[in-house]
Order: sequence, then structure tokens, then C-alpha cells
Amino acid sequence: MPVTTEQVLAWLQRSAAILHEHRDYLTQLDSPIGDADHGVNMDRGFTAVMDKLPGVADKDAGTILKTVGTTLVSTVGGASGPLYGTAFLRAGMALAGKFELQDSDVMAALQAALEGIIARGKAKPGEKTMVDALHPAIQTFKAALETGEPLKAALAKATESAEQGMKATIPMLATKGRASYLGERSIGHQDPGATSSWLFLRAMGG
Ligand code: ADP
Ligand code: MG
Repeated sequence: MPVTTEQVLAWLQRSAAILHEHRDYLTQLDSPIGDADHGVNMDRGFTAVMDKLPGVADKDAGTILKTVGTTLVSTVGGASGPLYGTAFLRAGMALAGKFELQDSDVMAALQAALEGIIARGKAKPGEKTMVDALHPAIQTFKAALETGEPLKAALAKATESAEQGMKATIPMLATKGRASYLGERSIGHQDPGATSSWLFLRAMGG
């Protein structure tokens, strides 16, 4: 069964709800190694996204995701706005014109999103960023699809990998973004962006 644009819209709505619910948690994570605004940033961005979605609800998945991207770029300050904005723009480009998504389309969109984040932020795995949740998640997702697992099971496994990747940021030394200003003092804290990335995957699972 292909993924419909209604399901894409439902995922975005769940993402907005889950980010709102975790707003204070994400902001607390951003307090010792950042400027205590990640939850506020993400919640502001997705509140704006929710206002924009009705206007594109009858459009293809590419247009919907590109609208999310441009909205995040224009409403979210900080590093995460342009990074997640680029991710959604690239995912939208990968799905241009599509109303029904096959598993391979979902894979292509996730891959394009991660490549967008890496192109924009230049972070490699192990630098204590959102890449540390997304990279293992996408590897797991790809491997699961290749062994013939259904989409839902592949997404569940990817979400587990994202959670492990997120937890693995705790002992990492930050070498990108605001947290890198702290040097060794960044060690011992979970990365807020890796945490919001895990929440996006959790929302995908339904
Ligand atoms: P800011 O750091 O500008 O206040 P946010 O607090 O909203 O922005 O987002 C911080 C998150 O952005 C970090 O936890 C990290 O995951 C992510 N991030 C920062 N710089 C980069 C980068 N160069 N590449 C990937 N992710 C990054
Ligand atoms: Mg911040």
C-alpha cells in the first residue's frame, strides 16, 4: 500500500503535536550546551507549518514538504531552522509531483533530507548533531527495506536506531554548532537536535 498525501499531512500534524509536547524538554537539553531555545524554535516553526498546511492539503507530497521547508527557514531562527528547512526542501524535491509514495520514495526522501542537512551544516557522524540520530536511522531503514520488511516495521526499527544514535551523543564532544563553543564541557549532555530528529521518526510510526 503506497503512502498517501493524507498520511504525509497526518505525520506533519503528529510532528507538530509531539514537538509541542516536548518543547520544554528540548529547550532544557539546549540549556547546558546551547542557548536554551531548541524547543521554542521547533514549536514556533511547526505552529507556522500548521497554519500553512490547509493551503497545500490538495497538492502533491513534494509541494507539501517544500512548503514545510520554506516555512521553517523563514520562522525558525538558529541553526536548526535552515538545517531542518533544507531537509524538508530536499525531501520535497525528491517527491516532486507524487501523490502516492512507494517504500522507495520514502527512502529517497529520507536520504535527500539527510544529504541536505549534511550539505548545509557540514557535520559528519560523531560530531554531536542531528546527523547522529538520522544517519543510523536511515541506514537501518534501508537495510530493513532491502530484507523485505514492510514499511511500518522498517520505520519502527529506524526509530529505535535514531533513539540509540541520540543517546550516543551524550559522551560525544561537539565540534559543530553552538555546543562546540564549550569544547570538552559539551561532553555528558544529550544533543537537542538529535532528540528532535528522533521525535520526527517517532511521529512517522503513527
Ligand atoms: P541554535 O544552536 O542556533 O540555537 P537550535 O538550538 O534550534 O539552534 O538547534 C541546535 C541543534 O542544531 C543542535 O543540537 C544540533 O543538533 C544542530 N546543529 C547545529 N549545528 C549543526 C550542524 N552544523 N550540522 C548539523 N546539525 C547542527
Ligand atoms: Mg539553541
